[in-house]
Amino acid sequence: MNQEDSYKHKGMRKQLIAELRKDERIKNEAIFEAFEKVPRHFFLDLAFVEQAYSNIAFQIGAGQTISHPITVAFQTQLLEVKKGDKILEIGTGSGFQCCILCEMGAKVFSVERQKELFVRAKSLIHEMGYTPRLIFGDGYKGMPAFAPFDKIIVTCGAPDVPASLLEQLKVGGIMVIPVGEGKEQIMHKIVKVSDSEFQSEDFGTFKFVPMLERTAR
Ligand code: SAH
Repeated sequence: MNQEDSYKHKGMRKQLIAELRKDERIKNEAIFEAFEKVPRHFFLDLAFVEQAYSNIAFQIGAGQTISHPITVAFQTQLLEVKKGDKILEIGTGSGFQCCILCEMGAKVFSVERQKELFVRAKSLIHEMGYTPRLIFGDGYKGMPAFAPFDKIIVTCGAPDVPASLLEQLKVGGIMVIPVGEGKEQIMHKIVKVSDSEFQSEDFGTFKFVPMLERTAR
């Protein structure tokens, strides 16, 4: 890992956390602690890789391809992460969100459809000492071999809620997913009440790169 975490970086992280604390929606103290421990700048060159391959990057603006810190914090808040939770992430991307969840004590399974991002995120995440299960594949399928999950977090904009992911959620489990076909999506928190019943709540508008079908090499 060709990365340095200097006092300057640590100071910048403290500033970022102070900003996040101003947002009253973020209440879970463990989220701030995880943000303090995971050096966000390690992941930034991976975000540029994604901009390089994605022709939609210019539409959503520079810096949007690694989810904005407040978006990571907010999705994590909605997910009600507890130590030992088995969490499926769709869209490993840079790996930053995945590391935040690992730092909070979750057992993370993360799927990425872009080969180059998958390879780079995997080596960075492992060099940082985290041990999630990382898979190159199509998130629309979820990970049936490891289901059911306590929580599912989708970090790309889904045209609708994939039925396979609802199936792979435990009863009592939570899925956080931005839903919408255009440039903007509505954040949904879905609770699986029983095998066939779901409760969904909306949490405002966000901008994500789209959830695409099949893998890309
Ligand atoms: N959680 C990431 C966010 C990355 S952006 C982070 O912390 O950086 C969303 C990612 O979802 C992109 O890397 C994109 O390639 C990926 N993606 C889009 N559709 C997907 C699918 N069907 N399966 C898996 N990953 C997908």
